[in-house]
Amino acid sequence: MRPTGRKSTQDEEVACQHCGALAYRDARVCRQCGKFPVALHRCPHCGFIAPADAERCERCGRVFMPGGDYL
Ligand SMILES: [Zn+2]
Ligand SMILES: [Zn+2]
Repeated sequence: MRPTGRKSTQDEEVACQHCGALAYRDARVCRQCGKFPVALHRCPHCGFIAPADAERCERCGRVFMPGGDYL
């Protein structure tokens, strides 16, 4: 790691949206709960990734389970 000109976007920690534990922004899984730290729906039918507040898949129209189908 360089002592100067440090850009901290990758080391920035964010609260896991599932369990609240701190996880690195670029982490693929939360160290505490093992899920992707940002709550995103993944359509089980076609694999489309949608925001957590989406009610249904934009691609195939499958309705997401409330609080489920997370990445
Ligand atoms: Zn977590
Ligand atoms: Zn879909």
